[in-house]
Formats: sequence, C-alpha cells, structure tokens
Amino acid sequence: MSIPILDLRRSFEEIKPEVFKRLEKIFDEQNFILGSEVKTFERHCERYLELPEGAAVGCASGTDALLLALMAADVHEGDEVITTPFTFFATSGAVARLGAKPVFVDVEPDTYNINLEQAVSKINSRTKIFLPVHLFGQMCALEKVKKEFADKNIKIVEDTAQAFGSSRIVDGKIERAGTVGDIGCYSFFPTKNLGGCGDGGMVVARDLQTAERLARLRVHGSGTTYYHDEIGINSRLDAIQAAVLDIKLKYLEAWNEQRTQIADYYKLLFKASGLHEFVTPPTVLEGNRHIYHQYVIRVHSRRDELMNFMNENGFGVRVYYPLSLHLQPCFKYLGYKEGDFPVSEALTREVLALPVFPGLKQDEQEQIIDCMKKFFRA
Ligand SMILES: *Cc1c(COP(=O)(O)O)cnc(C)c1O
Repeated sequence: MSIPILDLRRSFEEIKPEVFKRLEKIFDEQNFILGSEVKTFERHCERYLELPEGAAVGCASGTDALLLALMAADVHEGDEVITTPFTFFATSGAVARLGAKPVFVDVEPDTYNINLEQAVSKINSRTKIFLPVHLFGQMCALEKVKKEFADKNIKIVEDTAQAFGSSRIVDGKIERAGTVGDIGCYSFFPTKNLGGCGDGGMVVARDLQTAERLARLRVHGSGTTYYHDEIGINSRLDAIQAAVLDIKLKYLEAWNEQRTQIADYYKLLFKASGLHEFVTPPTVLEGNRHIYHQYVIRVHSRRDELMNFMNENGFGVRVYYPLSLHLQPCFKYLGYKEGDFPVSEALTREVLALPVFPGLKQDEQEQIIDCMKKFFRA
C-alpha cells in the first residue's frame, strides 16, 4: 500500500479525452504563445472570479505573477513590502529581486496566515506594498485591515498561488481570493489546486488601467509590438497551458468541493482516533471556504520521526515549510535572527501535510490515520 502526497493521474483520467482533443487543435494551428486559447482562459477566469473583462492577464508562472504585480505597483529599490515569513520562497524572492526589502511579520498559530495587526504595526513612510499569502488554500481576513493600508496609499498584492477558488463571506457578500486587494497573483504550477501541464500563472487587477499595464509588462513593456513604453519582462502564458487550464477550470468547483470533503473526513477521523493529544488539525476561520490546497496539521512533538515512520510505511506526508524565510541564508543581509518570529519558527518544527487530492478515497484516509495511531500508540 502506497499513497502519495498528490496523485494527479486520478483527476486527469476524468478529462483526458477532452484535453487531447483540444491539444490536437493547437498542434494543427501551430500557434503556441498567447493567442486565442489564452484569451479564452482569461475571460473564463474573469467570469469565475467576478471581475470585469480585461482584468485577468496570463503569465509564465506564479513567481512572475508576483514580479509583474510588484512592477506594476512601481516597487523600486529601498521600498518596503510587509509580508509573511511562513510561505514558499517566491513570495519574498520577487520582492528582493526588485531591490525592495521584505519586512516580515509573524503568522497566526491556528490558520498559519499572516498576523494582520502586526502587519499594520509595521507601516512606515517606506512601506509600498502589503503582500499577504492565502496559505494552503485559506483566505486571510483582509477586510479587517484594507482601509488602514488604503489610507496610507499602500497597495495590497495577494499571493493567491495556493487558493484559486477560495472565498470568504464578508458582510453577507462573497469575496474571492485574489480579488480583494489591488492585484491578485495565481500560480498554475502542476501541483497547485488549479494546475497546468507545465509552468503558468496569472495576475488580476480590477482596475483595468493596471491590468493593461500588467499585460504590457509581460511582453517587454510593449503596447504596440516593437514600441516600448517601459521595460518589462518576457512572461507569457502558452496555448497548451491555457487549454488544459481552461478545461480544468470547469471541474474546479467540484474538485475543490472534494478537497473540502476529504478535509472534513480527516477531521472526523481525528476526533474518533484519540490523536488530539498529539496533533492539531487545521482551523477554518468563520466565513471562510478553505479549499485545502494542502491539509496541514500541527504535530506537537516528534514531527520528523512521525514523518519518517509514515513515509517508510508508504504514506506520502510532507513538511511545508521546514525553514522560515527570515532564517534563509540568502536573507541574512536583512538582519533577522532566530526567535524573531516564534510562531513561524514553531510551525516549521510542527507542521505536517497529509495527502489531499481529488480521487483520494476514504479507506485510504483511514489507513493514513491508522498509521499515525500506530506511531503514537493511540
Ligand atoms: C507556488 C507558489 C508560488 C510560485 O508559483 P510558481 O508558479 O511555482 O512560480 C508563489 N507563492 C506561493 C505561496 C506558492 O505556493
């Protein structure tokens, strides 16, 4: 018995004929970059996210989406960007690449998302951007701090790489991840909950002037081919990715729903197992639709031993993330030290991601929990 952390083959079986039919058309046309497939996908994303036409701009990766967003927000050397140290590297990598300074604040122990009050407390005259991450598929409660940043003319760029389709009810209305701040950044890396068959990404901006600028920046800053208003980058989405993503987008609601059901079943199993003494399942904020890009528990002690034991028994459990970004060697120049962000540091020692993907079966989940029980002799 072996259950990987992620098995994409199961959901692909559902769409295989549709994908190959569409790919054949693309190969017949030999038009591989941007073009009508990308436009179609962008329009469908706008509809799904309830954004105006023109708001979505496909690009080459989630990392580039962040880079493009920060460029469109005029982030330059010396600017400060308030962000979380408990995330994938790309979030602050994009900031540093533009010569700006990532200013870290700690995260919440229950949702693992950035601590919003602490984020507000870091605002100063150099602050250009607030860059929260909707980690593991759960949204931050941005409505609580939106005004504080807007009043100081600080733009909000959302790292939505793990949360396509995640939402939150605010004052009786649905807010969708990536559309609450000024610019939303998505990744379509194959392992994301909406993933392509290669690298891909998207930036969205409700303000269409910003969206137009994003669309120029992805093609070397040119509005008209060979005429360059500013210096951009080469970051285009290709037709093959767009076609696969466009097909998958139709299934996303159902797949996200399956992820939620899997999470609910884990919760039930934990309740029945007596494991609560040893682990804490993820917490969902009131009003949130968590889409469980990852299902991440906290293991109170012996996390690495548990992970090794489960891996040896054929269960693909993983650690996201083992080292807080403020302690990464490449960020030494920022001057942070151990102890600066105790929650983030504790999480790096305690988190463990369990398999969650469309097609995962209940009896497989039971085996995963049984293995954990065996380890703890619970
Ligand atoms: C995956 C990811 C990215 C980067 O996306 P790529 O498409 O791999 O470049 C950025 N931020 C977070 C939080 C991610 O999980």
